[in-house]
Amino acid sequence: MRVFSASSRDFPDSAVMKADRLRLPFRTPVTTCAREFASAMKRLVDAAMPSQCALCGNLSQALLCKGCDAQYWNEPRLRCATCALPLAAPDLRREREDTRVHCAACLESPPAFNDTLALADYRAPLDTLAVELKFRARLAAGAAFAHHLHALFEDSDLSVPDVIVPVPLSRARLVARGYNQAWAIARPLARAMGVRADASIIARVRHTPAQSRLDRDARRRNVASAFSISGDVRGKHLGVVDDVMTSGATLDALARTLKLAGARRVTNFVALRTPKD
Ligand SMILES: [Zn+2]
Ligand SMILES: [Zn+2]
Repeated sequence: MRVFSASSRDFPDSAVMKADRLRLPFRTPVTTCAREFASAMKRLVDAAMPSQCALCGNLSQALLCKGCDAQYWNEPRLRCATCALPLAAPDLRREREDTRVHCAACLESPPAFNDTLALADYRAPLDTLAVELKFRARLAAGAAFAHHLHALFEDSDLSVPDVIVPVPLSRARLVARGYNQAWAIARPLARAMGVRADASIIARVRHTPAQSRLDRDARRRNVASAFSISGDVRGKHLGVVDDVMTSGATLDALARTLKLAGARRVTNFVALRTPKD
């Protein structure tokens, strides 16, 4: 995978945080002096390079300013436990002996995956973060998605996956973009959960046309047999990570392929969910 450069806005404090957290083996006047120097440098860099909130443009050293961070994450939205589609109260459907709520589509024709966690709907202003991550390599957005997905997971009663995998890009698309935005979320999410992340288990064997121009059935056909599995997933619970879930056809096809290869359970972790087709 290509290593690419990014501006200091993408990594608000990374360089200075490293200096600040220098792990020196023992405390001597020299190491104390080094710490004070690093701390002074951090303050200097912070003051010299003010950064902007990715959403509102206010000055902020973090990806989002405190106001946006408090306002936009974890919107209180009731979602289908299987596909994370937002539900209005009259849409509520419960299976017997299941306290989770589901949308009608998942009850009538369950997808191959078992559960989906989504942070918010794919709409303004958080869609900006997905665009920044996908097209402008703003990896801090991936870390922020991962941080909030981990918090959402901790609040859920879902079991911890055995391994976390990103939805893969085709080779051609990976070469063109230089990185997989889903991996930018998957890796920090796996680290936070204390499980392994593996980008090599699933490959995208077919370069599928852009999904957005197709209707729901065409999307299903479009992604059928688009994936191949190279690792041993038998009996495993996989956590599948993507930035945006639109119709769910890609994740359904991926979960179907994983289940055919013997996977026990598939839980999707998506940053943003498109409310309706
Ligand atoms: Zn802001
Ligand atoms: Zn559903």
